Amino acid sequence: MEPALEYINGNNLSVGGYLLTHGHFDHTLGMDKVDGNIYINLDDEFLARNPQEQLSSFTNSELDVQSYEGELHDISTFTHTDINIYRNPGHTKGSISYEFKNLGVIFTGDFVFAQGIGRTDLYSGDTNEMKESINNIFLNFDKEFEVFPGHGNTDTVNNILNYNSYLKEFING
Ligand SMILES: [Zn+2]
Repeated sequence: MEPALEYINGNNLSVGGYLLTHGHFDHTLGMDKVDGNIYINLDDEFLARNPQEQLSSFTNSELDVQSYEGELHDISTFTHTDINIYRNPGHTKGSISYEFKNLGVIFTGDFVFAQGIGRTDLYSGDTNEMKESINNIFLNFDKEFEVFPGHGNTDTVNNILNYNSYLKEFING
């Protein structure tokens, strides 16, 4: 978060909004440090507001992380002519992808990675929903677009469809 804020401040940029792909702590911590509207699918509001519960399940210790009490805007209130919003539940109920069509890039969060897909065994995850999201959303992405996942390297939709064996297992016949 800090390098991003330094870049914004150092280049005199203003932020139109912060777009969250889902509510997990490793994608939301730092919300209390930013100015401007934060957008999220409110199906993930509980997760986004309660990082301490997710952290304790990973570390078995009480880390000093506060719940988030600030404002969250539902993604349905966000509109931008160059950005398409896709709801792709499965990793979490509120998981979404952001497609910047003029740039040819898609931010998928923990929906689909270059070499894998997001876990579905965490709170509000659902394997059947993941399967539907892959077949109804990911398969319809432009094959030439570059996927920027929440973890790991980027790759084209086409390469991911061809080489991602975890994804292929979920594709219908
Ligand atoms: Zn996640």
